[in-house]
Amino acid sequence: MYPLLLVRYGELSLKGRNRRVFEDLLLANIRASIAHLPHGRIIKTFGRIYLETKDNWEELAARLQRVFGIVSISPVLRRDLDLEEIKEGAKLVTEDTPGKTFKVETRRANKQFPVSSPELSRILGGHLLRSFPHLKVDVHNPDFVVKVEVRSEGAFIYSQVLPCLGGLPAGSAGKGLLLLSGGIDSPVAGFLSMKRGVNLEGVHFHSYPFTSQQSKEKVLDLARLLAPYNAGGRFKLWVAHFTEVQKALAKGSYPSLSITLMRRFMLRIAARLAQREGALALVTGDSLGQVASQTMESIHTINAVTNMPIYRPLIGLDKQEIVELAVKIGTYETSILPYEDCCTVFVPKNPATRPTIQQVERAEEELDVEGLMEEALAKTELVELHRDKIL
Ligand code: ATP
Ligand code: MG
Repeated sequence: MYPLLLVRYGELSLKGRNRRVFEDLLLANIRASIAHLPHGRIIKTFGRIYLETKDNWEELAARLQRVFGIVSISPVLRRDLDLEEIKEGAKLVTEDTPGKTFKVETRRANKQFPVSSPELSRILGGHLLRSFPHLKVDVHNPDFVVKVEVRSEGAFIYSQVLPCLGGLPAGSAGKGLLLLSGGIDSPVAGFLSMKRGVNLEGVHFHSYPFTSQQSKEKVLDLARLLAPYNAGGRFKLWVAHFTEVQKALAKGSYPSLSITLMRRFMLRIAARLAQREGALALVTGDSLGQVASQTMESIHTINAVTNMPIYRPLIGLDKQEIVELAVKIGTYETSILPYEDCCTVFVPKNPATRPTIQQVERAEEELDVEGLMEEALAKTELVELHRDKIL
């Protein structure tokens, strides 16, 4: 019944050129997200966007709820600036909204309209009470609010406000490279960086045949679940061949440092890839203190191999908060599938929780660090994913 979706977007503090770039990108991302669905015009007016639906507002809204930069959407009716028409529209919206108590809220941006906001709210409230004897007005804590916006383009009437993701439009910041494991954390870290406009690619370290084909498929699935949040609904995943590094570490004389050494290799390889791809930052799913490799000492020692900025959007989140986000963005079910990760295969019995840079540098003297990196990079393959499929 709603021929229009009203799309509200945020970051109103953005000024001048930034604002234009923000709005143009947002419009392009909206267009791309609904490209395969029937819809009418997309109309931009001051600070808001209207999308004409084709009797499919729910399906369109579901797509828009994944577009960063949108704060909320409402399915709305538009009526001409005529009191009788507005009354009829308010009645339809009320009929469509569950609840026993309500109030009417009017905003009159168009002062040409002769009835003031409080007066219009009173007229409509009275009309609705007469039309629906089971309803009562409650101005303090109503079950629903009938909202009427009187603008020069017409009167817009609605009750539902669907919250969306907020953030900045996909692609409005530079490129980043996510270290994507098969776990719960890193997809959420990727999501949060994309939320601030990062155009994300991923790298996954895979140790076939120590880790199975299934564990790789799982990571491809996770990357595909992240794809809709990227500009164009695409995600590039680099699958790095980590087997030789793992073998060399397993033979080494410092088993308690093997996780730290492994993470240093991951960061070095990721930093090289990032440079090659023009990425400006790495992104990881570290959360402070969660495991031995995420103590402050470990992060300090692991971080020392690169100057590249490393974003850790989960650093201050508890596991439960991360799980809730994973559920919300739809990656949780895939993340908990029980396939082994390269880290789980080679975990030492007693991983060092306070490794120092001197210790790991000594341990790395017996390794051909550069040769191992080159080999891993040479055997890295690219998989491109799209929101609906693995390309
Ligand atoms: P996750 O749930 O993301 O696997 P975790 O709690 O298991 O995280 P760790 O295994 O210590 O944490 O990994 C810390 C971070 O290192 C991950 O969030 C991810 O960014 C990166 N990482 C770990 N393993 C891999 C891998 N096989 N490939 C790519 N990145 C990885
Ligand atoms: Mg992990």
